[in-house]
Amino acid sequence: MFEKVLIANRGEIALRIHRACREMGIRTVVVHSTADSDAMAVRLADEAVCIGPPAARDSYLNIPALLSAATITGCDAIHPGIGFLAENARFAEMVEEHGFAFIGPTAQHIRVMGDKIAAKDAVKAAGLPVVPGSDGAVDTVDEAQALAREMGYPVLVKATAGGGGKGMKVAMADAEFPEAYTMARNEARAAFGNDSVYIEKYLDHPRHIEIQLLADTHGNVVHFGERDCSIQRRHQKVIEEAPSPALNAEERAYIGGLAAETARKLGYRGVGTMEFLYQDGKFYFIEMNTRLQVEHPITEEISGIDLVREQIRVATGAPLGYTQADIEFQGHAIECRINAEDPETFTPSPGRIDGYHAPGGLGVRVDSAIYDGYRIPPHYDSLVAKLIVRGTTRNECLMRLRRALEEYVIDGVKTTLPLHARLIAEPDFINGDYDIRWLERLMAK
Ligand code: ADP
Repeated sequence: MFEKVLIANRGEIALRIHRACREMGIRTVVVHSTADSDAMAVRLADEAVCIGPPAARDSYLNIPALLSAATITGCDAIHPGIGFLAENARFAEMVEEHGFAFIGPTAQHIRVMGDKIAAKDAVKAAGLPVVPGSDGAVDTVDEAQALAREMGYPVLVKATAGGGGKGMKVAMADAEFPEAYTMARNEARAAFGNDSVYIEKYLDHPRHIEIQLLADTHGNVVHFGERDCSIQRRHQKVIEEAPSPALNAEERAYIGGLAAETARKLGYRGVGTMEFLYQDGKFYFIEMNTRLQVEHPITEEISGIDLVREQIRVATGAPLGYTQADIEFQGHAIECRINAEDPETFTPSPGRIDGYHAPGGLGVRVDSAIYDGYRIPPHYDSLVAKLIVRGTTRNECLMRLRRALEEYVIDGVKTTLPLHARLIAEPDFINGDYDIRWLERLMAK
C-alpha cells in the first residue's frame, strides 16, 4: 500500500481523495495555489505545499512544481483528481518516469481515448456500437458533403481533438453543410490548435448514458452499471441519476457487460467511464473518460463501493477482491451540481460565503469543501458542492432531494440551488421523461 499520496487538485475533489486516503491509513500532501491557502483540503491534509500563483497554468498545471512537491515530501504516488492534468498523457508519463505511481490509467490509454477518432476506432474494433459516421477525419468540404448526403441529414461535424462541446456544429440540411463544416474547423483550430474534423449522424433525442468501469492490473474488469446524465446545459451536466429511468435490467447488463469486455480487450487499468448516447433502444459510444468522474458518488450510493478507494487499491497493483456477480445495486441516487453562479444567467458568482448550513439526515450526502466564511476564488470553475441523495425508490429519492434542497443555505454568493429546486419539480423530470436537449428547451420557454 502507498504510504503518502500527493493530491494534484483542489476544491471538493481534493477533499474527496483526502478522505479516501485517510480511511486507508495513507498520509496526504495537498498542493495549492496562493488563492487556495484557506481550502478545507489544505487544512485537513497531513502536509500542504504551495505550488504557485492563482492562474492554473502557473500552479495546478505546473508539472515541474507538482513533481518537485512530490519529491520533497517523499510521496509514493500522485492522484490527479478530475480536470487539470487528469487526462494529460505526458503528465502520467512524467509521474512514472520520476518514480511515482500514477493513480490512473497508462499514458497510452489516455492518449488513445483523448483522440476521438482513435478512440472510436479502438472501441469499434473491440465490438462496441458507435455513432455512424465518417471513417476518420474528412479533409475537404466536398468529400465531407458527399458523405453527409450518403448518410442522410441531420449530421454533426465534430473536432477530432474536441472537448467541452467545442468544435461541434450541426447541419440540418444539405444547404447548411458547407457553413457548418467551415465553422467547426475554425472553432477547432482556435480552441485546440488542430482543425481536423470528422462527421457523425446527428441523433435528435438521445439520452446520455455512461457506464462506470473498474479494472485491475491482472485483467479483471467490472462495471457498476450506468448513470443517466441527460440533464445538461451547453454539454455540461447539471443533474445525474443512477439507475437511469430509461433502462431495464436487461439493457443494463447488456451495455455494462459490453463496456467491461471492451475495457478488458484494451488492457485498461483503473477507473474509467464509457459514455454513450441512447436513442430508440440503441446505444452509441461517444467517448471514454480515463479518470474519475464528478458524478461518481451516485454510483457509490447504489453500489456501496468507494470508487476512490478502489482506484487507489488497483494503482498499487492489488487485484479486485470481487467479481461482477458480487456487485449489487440498491435503491436510487440523484446528484445536483451546485455552482456559485446566477441561476438564471449562469454568470459566475465568486466571493465570501457569509452563512452556511448543509442539509443532512438519512440518505443525504454533501461532497463540498466550502464552509462559513470561505471565500470562493474567481480563478477556477464554479462547482462548489454536490448534493447527493439516496432513496429506496426513485420516488423516495425525489422527496428527500426536495427536502434537502429546501434545507440547504449558502448565503453571500448566488448559487444554482433555486434552479435545482425548479427542475426537480418539473413533471417531465418527476416522470424520468427527458433527453439531452430537455433542459435547453425548458430554459428557452
Ligand atoms: P465533448 O468531448 O466536446 O464533450 P462529446 O463527444 O462527449 O464531446 O459530446 C458532447 C455532447 O454533445 C454529448 O453529451 C451530446 O449531448 C452531444 N453529442 C455528441 N455527439 C452527438 C451526436 N452524434 N448526435 C447528437 N448529439 C451529440
